[in-house]
Amino acid sequence: MSDRIPFLDLVTPHRELKNELCIVFANILDTASFVSGPVVEQFECDFAKFCDAQHCVGISNGTDALRFAMIAAGVKPGDTVVTVPNTFIATTEAIAQAGARPDFVDIDERTYNMDPEELRRYLEERCRFEGGVLKNCESGLPVTAVIPVHLYGQTADMDPILELANRYQLIVIEDACQAHGAEYFSNAHNCWRKAGSMGAAGAFSFYPGKNLGACGEAGAVTTNDPEIAKKVRMLRDHGQSQKYYHEIEGYNGRLDSVQAGILGVKLKYLPGWTAARRVAAARYRILLAAAEGKIVPPFTPPWARAVYHLFVIRAADRDALMKHLASVGVGTAIHYPKSLHLQNAYKRLNLCQGAFPKSEKAAAEIISLPMYPGLTARQQGKVVEEILKFLEYSNPRLGVECLEAWH
Ligand SMILES: *Cc1c(COP(=O)(O)O)cnc(C)c1O
Repeated sequence: MSDRIPFLDLVTPHRELKNELCIVFANILDTASFVSGPVVEQFECDFAKFCDAQHCVGISNGTDALRFAMIAAGVKPGDTVVTVPNTFIATTEAIAQAGARPDFVDIDERTYNMDPEELRRYLEERCRFEGGVLKNCESGLPVTAVIPVHLYGQTADMDPILELANRYQLIVIEDACQAHGAEYFSNAHNCWRKAGSMGAAGAFSFYPGKNLGACGEAGAVTTNDPEIAKKVRMLRDHGQSQKYYHEIEGYNGRLDSVQAGILGVKLKYLPGWTAARRVAAARYRILLAAAEGKIVPPFTPPWARAVYHLFVIRAADRDALMKHLASVGVGTAIHYPKSLHLQNAYKRLNLCQGAFPKSEKAAAEIISLPMYPGLTARQQGKVVEEILKFLEYSNPRLGVECLEAWH
């Protein structure tokens, strides 16, 4: 069908930028400086500025960025690191790869992000200080860090999370892999703060489908702590302080110059792309008002300036809605269909159905609509028209408690 509306269109922006991107590649061929070097350093400088962070270290991908940020900030093998079950598995993979054990607290059902109240309850009721070290009562393992995930392009509620982290001596690593440029209004600081500038460090992914995407794999760590930046630089490059002098065993986790050059070009367009995503989100909200009571649009608290990596709605009978949209040529996706604690990969954690009910309920009801800077008003009109048609003949009901949470 020619008027198919894809979930994501990566072809058009790259066609538009083709000449500019090819020049980047040609210049790098001339110098043959393929890994690290001045192009990487320039991008690091530009992206640090973009994030209001003192330092940025280019990394091979977002998962490695999370792992290096944790290790550099002091997470040790045998530690427990707390995050949410409603995220991409890379968050918990990175925790395990740092030698730590992932543990979970539930989300706020309106924002789909970490609920600071759940974190407080976890720390108060399920942990205790033992010889000055915070330990999980059941496992006896030290709890040393928390990873709030700024999912779908909207920050977690950072003030109370940072306050709890301070009280319980936890390292805060922001998973900002979906939140390039997202902002949080901090009452504590009385200003807007950028994702990746609030915790000990932030981790970004530049996977092609992210708001700022490479033409391949790429990531970055941002931090205001020069010691953490220095350690991340060593970790990404075999633990070297200078060539062939290894302070520690590290990893091969560098950012290559071609990707850095491409990211540098695209970074100039990112504010415009973010503005276009916000316009598209506002338009969806207006159109979806016709489905009030049956569709729950994304909730944006007054302290959030989201960058709409995804536009996630809640619908009863989600699977049938998704099928209907697919049948009329509208691409959608689910982020994510199965909470992490229920994944086969985490059987070892012995967490069962019902352990994190708000995450589980979201996993069953959420659906991500097409969202990208080039999405047109006409396309959005068709997406919502089809949603309304579906609601008319299926007449599903959302759970009462879900609607109450929204109002
Ligand atoms: C994409 C993503 C990652 C991992 O990034 P990669 O570059 O794919 O390794 C981590 N966390 C979240 C929330 C993500 O969306």
